[in-house]
Amino acid sequence: MENNKIDNNLLFLTEDNDAKALYTELISGVSKAIADVFTNEKAYIGLSPQELKQKIHVDELLPKQGLGLESVEKLLNEKILPFFLRTPSTDYMAHLHGPALIETVAAELVLSTFNQSMDSWDQSPVATEIELEVIDTLCKLYGYGSTVLHDETVLDKVHPDGVFTSGGSQSNLMALMLARDWYCNTKLNYDVKKFGLPQCYDKFRIYTSEISHFSMEKSAHLLGLGYNAVVKVPVDSKQKMDIVAFKSLVEQDIAQGNIPFCAVATVGTTDYGSIDDIQQMKAICAEHGMWLHADAAYGSGVIMSSKYKDIIGPIFVCDSITVDFHKMFLMPVSCGAFLLKDASNFEALTLHADYLNREEDEEDGYTNLVGKSMQTTRRFDALKVWLSFQVRGQQGWDKIITTCIDNAQYLYKKIASSSSFETVTKPEISSVVFRFIPKRNRDSEEYVNELNKKIRRKLIHDKGIVIGQTVYDHKVFLKFTLLNPRMTHEKLDSLLELISTIGSE
Ligand SMILES: *Cc1c(COP(=O)(O)O)cnc(C)c1O
Repeated sequence: MENNKIDNNLLFLTEDNDAKALYTELISGVSKAIADVFTNEKAYIGLSPQELKQKIHVDELLPKQGLGLESVEKLLNEKILPFFLRTPSTDYMAHLHGPALIETVAAELVLSTFNQSMDSWDQSPVATEIELEVIDTLCKLYGYGSTVLHDETVLDKVHPDGVFTSGGSQSNLMALMLARDWYCNTKLNYDVKKFGLPQCYDKFRIYTSEISHFSMEKSAHLLGLGYNAVVKVPVDSKQKMDIVAFKSLVEQDIAQGNIPFCAVATVGTTDYGSIDDIQQMKAICAEHGMWLHADAAYGSGVIMSSKYKDIIGPIFVCDSITVDFHKMFLMPVSCGAFLLKDASNFEALTLHADYLNREEDEEDGYTNLVGKSMQTTRRFDALKVWLSFQVRGQQGWDKIITTCIDNAQYLYKKIASSSSFETVTKPEISSVVFRFIPKRNRDSEEYVNELNKKIRRKLIHDKGIVIGQTVYDHKVFLKFTLLNPRMTHEKLDSLLELISTIGSE
């Protein structure tokens, strides 16, 4: 940046020409510095935690006199940018957190420059209208609100709705809270919003598979139910909920006087991507008057693949759906949505404040989204979805998601046919869990566990390759989470070879 142009008193982008010039220069300088960091395909520079601490340290984080705007690039270049984990690299496949599509990065710039808050229309006029349109499109995408016969008996005519959230954990908490309030309102004729928890609350039970996301327990705790209210249903060999066990656990609980009010189908488990059988779970929920929530934080992206979309099942029969855009959908953190089959259930979250969301606003056509959200101030994340849906279209999205799932299928085939590796289950989405089995020492579990841990560490620090690790049946497994459509079959071959080489050293 040319020093003579810097005015360190400058605070914001405004109509002033100097402000415009500086904004443009600062942003283009930073974006060039970011681009310059991408010098190779490595995901990580390899530094240990101690080395990293030294690199990023500054003596005075809050100096008496600021270093000024001209220091922005230098600071970022010296202290931050080279050390970032580079998620767009095909050497990164550790978690369900992926690279961010380039147009959604541009959207982030737009939304933070204007810094709207989504709570009331007067804080975010265009943002509110865009979020409404995106939510409408998402409801249709997942099959809500259409007048098709969703199951044998019910013609689905209720009006769906939804809201953007900070991600899957928040969406799941909302689901369990709204399910609770719905159950109390409709089955016990009791208003939790007004009176707090009902007397029989300690009998309330939630059913979800034993490998569902830990946000189930966290939410149960937050809702005053506690971990013990979450009944963990065993999974079968494909890592899907055992439906027979689910049914008998519900019946057993009813016989003991407990109150099953909600079940959660995981549409893509965090480790394996396995998908619970929604149709069968719905039948049991319908029989016992229970809410069914779909935690599709991972699997929500599968809907975009014309080849694979049927594997997620009839997700529209669920009363609510968690959708995450910062996982398979490759958008910047944070970006999630919560969809609700019957909008009237949002009533549990509505509260009118005179300064914020006056009742007369709604009557006059001003939508104040705070009435649907647990947050008050909230980001305009919907812009990322809006822009990328427009940019990529159905075809672009189909290609992205299908490529990732195809890659997982390819990798699984290779691993399953090799005597050097062992797998847990065939992947349904894009996560492949496996471990290296050395030719010698086949008997010592301890040795194989340590060897697989060592492989992962060596990959990070010697090669800049970041993969996942998990435990199945007390054994250490490695995991490739294949969210990057740039990954190729050749690259997967070479990664397996590298793992074999390290493992055989
Ligand atoms: C990641 C994940 C979550 C949590 O979502 P966040 O966006 O990280 O809060 C919930 N459920 C499942 C199945 C997940 O994989």
